[in-house]
Amino acid sequence: MRSIGHFIGGREVKGTSGRTADVFEPMTGEVQAKVALATKAELRAAVENAKAAQPAWAATNPQRRVRVLMKFLELVARDNEALAELLAREHGKTIPDARGDILRGVEVVEFALGIPHLMKGEYTEGAGPQIDLYSIRQPLGVVAGITPFNFPAMIPMWKFAPAIACGNAFILKPSERDPGVPMKLAELMLEAGLPPGILNVVNGDKEAVDAILDDPDISAVGFVGSSSIAQYIYERAAAAGKRCQCFGGAKNHMIVMPDADMDQAVDALVGASYGAAGERCMAVSVAVPVGKTTADRLMEKLIPRVENLKIGPSTDPSADYGPLVTQAALDRVRNYVEIGIKEGAKLAVDGRGFKMQGYENGFYMGGCLFDNVTKDMRIYKEEIFGPVLSVVRAHDFDEALRLPSEHEYGNGVAIFTRDGDSAREFAAKVNVGMVGINVPIPVPVAYFSFGGWKRSGFGDLNQYGTDSVRFYTKTKTVTARWPSGVKEGADFAMPTS
Ligand code: NAD
Repeated sequence: MRSIGHFIGGREVKGTSGRTADVFEPMTGEVQAKVALATKAELRAAVENAKAAQPAWAATNPQRRVRVLMKFLELVARDNEALAELLAREHGKTIPDARGDILRGVEVVEFALGIPHLMKGEYTEGAGPQIDLYSIRQPLGVVAGITPFNFPAMIPMWKFAPAIACGNAFILKPSERDPGVPMKLAELMLEAGLPPGILNVVNGDKEAVDAILDDPDISAVGFVGSSSIAQYIYERAAAAGKRCQCFGGAKNHMIVMPDADMDQAVDALVGASYGAAGERCMAVSVAVPVGKTTADRLMEKLIPRVENLKIGPSTDPSADYGPLVTQAALDRVRNYVEIGIKEGAKLAVDGRGFKMQGYENGFYMGGCLFDNVTKDMRIYKEEIFGPVLSVVRAHDFDEALRLPSEHEYGNGVAIFTRDGDSAREFAAKVNVGMVGINVPIPVPVAYFSFGGWKRSGFGDLNQYGTDSVRFYTKTKTVTARWPSGVKEGADFAMPTS
């Protein structure tokens, strides 16, 4: 059996804690690897390596730093298929979906190639008599990223690429459920010429995370995962004086207006709700048709589409989606379906009985569709993170606008309509961080930035885009005056311009 250690100081090292976690192959249900769970001392070893390597990396000019990332992109392209297969086998998503996971990460690495320009400071000549002012951006030092299971390539790259391009050293603590790809990415960065110690992967669970939060040499922590952990990490890291941004869970609504193209809306809905078995933070989990006629037309088209979803092993390229990540995730999602039935929602499609022939121990679940879901139900309020879509019928536009706006999560939202006025009003007023207009999964491209509101995001800067440059650097402002501009005598009043 494969055993996965840590990647510290430019090489894979074995774990010393004696504690490991099982890494499953969701499509067969078998344990395929054991991953080491780090102790505080192992985390500390990674920090020592990072701390020793970081000053020389920061002093390497930014163009040379991004040449390493350029080479890394070539290597990811070279190994793309092997990475996609490993990702699919550890996560459970299909191989085409795994390729997308890698590509959306690669796009942020491409963005980070612009760091020489993005890190440039500002300069004002003559801000006062003989006084010039300039600001410079400097790296923070050692920073850390704690990432979830559902995008094991994309989210680590969202974190480490801008951080490293800015001249920081990085400690990645990926999900213990699918650590194989993050380890490979670290190896590829080394092969691309990154000095040892600049990117370290420490595998682990709460013990490793707490060690990150308490380590005095880690200046900033970026987290992506569920909201309760996001809040915990935000509070503990902030209390320790660290810069921190934590992105959490979601309940993404898709509003379907009476004038929407219903075929397009249904296509969008099935892809965005059931793709990756619903294990995406931007998955649509609530559909909101406006008006009874719209709701009835939607359900008429949606039900057969959900009944006919093609579920398959991750290696089947024709499957719409594969298994869930673990048996525990499957049990949790099935439990939510029971809760929905007890709460009185109408289960219009029940996928719980689905069995994958030849893969009977895999973590598969058919698509489930609830109608007549109401605001007070747990299946509406809580994140299910599985192939379960809830339909909440709204009477009018105002009610449809209020639903996502008043929900405690605020990651993504979409509206399907042909009417520019209602789309514009919706985008302007909705209390959610990312909005799609006839786009069901509005994950912004790499040169914008990603971030949810309310309990979907703690902290005040988004991920990637120019926000990532602000997050991973600190600004120093220099006010300079030369002797020819200095007046004689001491001045005791506050200097003014
Ligand atoms: P998770 O919160 O269980 O785990 C995320 C990370 O936190 C992992 O590295 C894990 O090891 C660590 N962790 C888990 N329990 C911990 C604890 N008690 N103390 C400290 N650290 C702990 O999330 P997950 O199940 O891996 O991922 C799915 C969640 O992530 C969903 O809620 C999803 O919406 C969210 N997500 C959000 C975004 C976003 O950008 N907003 C993107 C992807 C996923």
